[in-house]
Amino acid sequence: SYFKELGLAEPILRALEAKGYSEPSPIQRQAIPSLMEGRDLLGIAQTGTGKTAAFSLPSLHRLAQDGYKPNPASCRMLVLSPTRELAAQIAENMRRYAKHLPINVECVFGGVPVGKQARRLVPGTDVLVATPGRLLDLIDQRALTLKHVEIFVLDEADQMMDLGFIKPLTRVANLLPKERQSLFFSATMPKDIADLSRRFINDPVKVEV
Ligand code: AMP
Repeated sequence: SYFKELGLAEPILRALEAKGYSEPSPIQRQAIPSLMEGRDLLGIAQTGTGKTAAFSLPSLHRLAQDGYKPNPASCRMLVLSPTRELAAQIAENMRRYAKHLPINVECVFGGVPVGKQARRLVPGTDVLVATPGRLLDLIDQRALTLKHVEIFVLDEADQMMDLGFIKPLTRVANLLPKERQSLFFSATMPKDIADLSRRFINDPVKVEV
């Protein structure tokens, strides 16, 4: 398939086959090659375009390739999502894509007790999908540090702004290491979102679908 031509690792191709994906969607076709090279990305795309796989597949490929292990109370990839439903959906999809890889995916969000989530983070995780408020609670409780994040994804930036997450996002931006890959997605790109994007991404490839 064309996914194979993109150079994705064989365990990922097998997972895609199991999901019944034969061809990449336009955003996947446009984003995956640059993301595999480690470039930052500015994606203007709605849900339903296949953007979850567009950011997940090359990221999982890179995490598996460099072969680092997560540090305690750390994650190697952080995905921020505005709502718990979306966060859970992203985590579920990423677990499927990573099924044949030695990569684990955790998901944390508010509205449920924080203690159990904190305990799951003790050994560290390769991928953490989180909502902003709960992420910062865990950081404040010293259950998590962002010092070792290699890949950062901000999903649905416009919805984040609508929900009043600008302050938490600014705090997250200041806690992330400077050396990292960053991906920023929004369905729309008004000036306040474009300004926010500059706090996260550096010389990005732009993809609009
Ligand atoms: P998303 O925009 O990431 O929420 O994806 C929308 C839906 O499309 C999800 O149900 C995915 O499982 C599905 N999907 C994503 N990429 C592909 C693909 N290349 N081929 C078929 N289905 C896909």
